Amino acid sequence: MTTVAEQVRAELVEQLETLFARAGRIEAHQHNLNREVPADWPEAATFRSNDAVVDALDDHTREEIAQVRAAISRIDAGTWTTCESCDDPIPEGRLRALPTATLCVRCAAEAEEERRRG
Ligand SMILES: [Zn+2]
Repeated sequence: MTTVAEQVRAELVEQLETLFARAGRIEAHQHNLNREVPADWPEAATFRSNDAVVDALDDHTREEIAQVRAAISRIDAGTWTTCESCDDPIPEGRLRALPTATLCVRCAAEAEEERRRG
């Protein structure tokens, strides 16, 4: 049986591969060469901190990679379902909808409120 965390983790790894594939294209474009993607690319790319590649990305993609990586780390560490702020469990439905969420609904609302106030 596959748990929600396993399912979502697989989706996140896929998402990360897509993001790194995009990064690879950007890098290849910048260096004006068509580098061959290594056979072990997806695995190698999963946690490798390839700053040269990441630096080439726009802020949004970079942020996305950071969030997805953090979510995978949280799943692996077993802290994925725990709110980073208040240690309450984050409901499964929320995590399914937003796998990169690190806060429970209440803390997220509070953080959003803070952000709006500036
Ligand atoms: Zn919370």
